[in-house]
Amino acid sequence: MDPVLHSESDVVVAGGGPAGLIAALAAARGGARTLLVEQYGFLGGMATVASVGPFSPFHYDDQQITVGIPQQLIDRLIAAGGSTGHLKCVPEYGSGSYMAYFDREIYKQVAFEMATEAGVRLLLHSFVADAIVENGAVRGLEVTNKSGRLALRSRLVVDATGDGDVAARAGAPFQWGRPGDELAQPMTMFFEMANVDTGRLKAYIDSTPDDFEWTSNLYPRQPLPPWLNQRYFVAQGFRRAVAEAKKKEGFDIGRDTVLLQSTMREGVIVFNSTRIGKLRGTDADQFTAAELEGRRQAMALADFAHRYLPGFENAYVSSTGAQVGVRESRHIIGEYLLQQEDVVEGRRFPDVVARGFFPVDIHDPTGSKGYTAGGSTWIKPKGPYDIPLRCLVPKGLDGLLLSGRNISASHAAHGSLRVQGTAFAIGHASGAAAAVAIRRGVEPRQLDAAEVQALLIEQEANLDLEGSNSARMAVP
Ligand SMILES: Cc1cc2nc3c(=O)[nH]c(=O)nc-3n(C[C@H](O)[C@H](O)[C@H](O)COP(=O)(O)OP(=O)(O)OC[C@H]3O[C@@H](n4cnc5c(N)ncnc54)[C@H](O)[C@@H]3O)c2cc1C
Repeated sequence: MDPVLHSESDVVVAGGGPAGLIAALAAARGGARTLLVEQYGFLGGMATVASVGPFSPFHYDDQQITVGIPQQLIDRLIAAGGSTGHLKCVPEYGSGSYMAYFDREIYKQVAFEMATEAGVRLLLHSFVADAIVENGAVRGLEVTNKSGRLALRSRLVVDATGDGDVAARAGAPFQWGRPGDELAQPMTMFFEMANVDTGRLKAYIDSTPDDFEWTSNLYPRQPLPPWLNQRYFVAQGFRRAVAEAKKKEGFDIGRDTVLLQSTMREGVIVFNSTRIGKLRGTDADQFTAAELEGRRQAMALADFAHRYLPGFENAYVSSTGAQVGVRESRHIIGEYLLQQEDVVEGRRFPDVVARGFFPVDIHDPTGSKGYTAGGSTWIKPKGPYDIPLRCLVPKGLDGLLLSGRNISASHAAHGSLRVQGTAFAIGHASGAAAAVAIRRGVEPRQLDAAEVQALLIEQEANLDLEGSNSARMAVP
């Protein structure tokens, strides 16, 4: 049976994570009739689904690179009492130069408000099962939900599923993981513990630096309201306790250190510490196995924290991710594949539509080591780098724009652009590109990059273009 026609829009955005949310806002504000489809009952992506956070920097050193609609989201969160805003991270190693804490529940509400105000139509609890492809162009999506199988027809689709689900279903070429063995970064089940004596925990961290690979403190640039005024920190280590528990009782969380940090709420600590390697988030059986292993590790780690770590004596698990967090999956091949050298050298491109800045941060796909040891990587770029429009245009397919972490980039380049600050900026770029394509009645590969840049600048993005909005070339 054919799917039932649900709607006809200019733009359908698949996935309501940081990229999809900002893409939908940019497209709708740019005049396109926009539908945003999400499999869960709320927006925010990994931040709200998998408890990932805080927002990694919008900054390179002290220079704020991501502005525009993503910064408006932060401002709205602050106004709603749902974010600390950008806190400076000292030292930046391990975390990046700034972080912005947020409250997941307030984020979910603010995201709804912003989408509704912009005129974005939402379709929640709807899983993108297929792409509607006509004559080599994506002209909508097929979703499954409580209503059955629905067709969402559109002129353009933005793939912000993180995994490139739309592009893959439509037949776009893609790469998996790193060259050679095709392994991707490990997955992680995030969880939080409440009722932690953070004073005791912090005192231990400060008094035993040799037990840690790194620790950072975070400082506000403006005074925080009294209810948010606490010590913010991140630490990776507790090497001695982990080694002891491994030896005594076979404790196993896939890595030999614990990475934890404060949250917006005093007494609540979040763990970014479990490690599930060698499984694919796009294979249902492997994804299921990852959930089982992620939960096993999370509960084992909570029990370990309770018994071994200072300050956790009366703590309990207060939340876990609704799903295991997937760092890396398909890299859809576009008109340009962003490379590690582009990132590390801080390269500029005439058709820049977003800018990246975060270190190449690759968690070891196979081993248990921290940030630089074993197969892990942490390389700071020489400066912010450009993400060209061509990375958003899939090879050989019309009617489709890539967004967020599934844009056209190598495993190493993805290691930098995958964080939320950049995902927001890429989302902004794809939404603006979609709006211009609709206005002009052209396919993404026919876009004049200068027009996309002009709309981005009108929407307060900073592309660091000398003097004016003008790009020097269209997408080849
Ligand atoms: C374990 C882990 C730790 C991380 N730590 C940090 C950190 O500390 N700071 C930071 O800034 N970033 C961090 N990141 C990175 C960051 O969370 C992601 O890279 C970022 O969320 C990518 O944004 P996105 O919009 O591209 O994809 P996602 O956030 O994955 O959003 C994709 C959205 O699409 C929806 N979706 C997917 N498939 C379908 C489908 N078929 N049908 C319908 N909906 C679908 C999903 O439900 C989701 O809402 C971490 C990521 C992970 C996994």
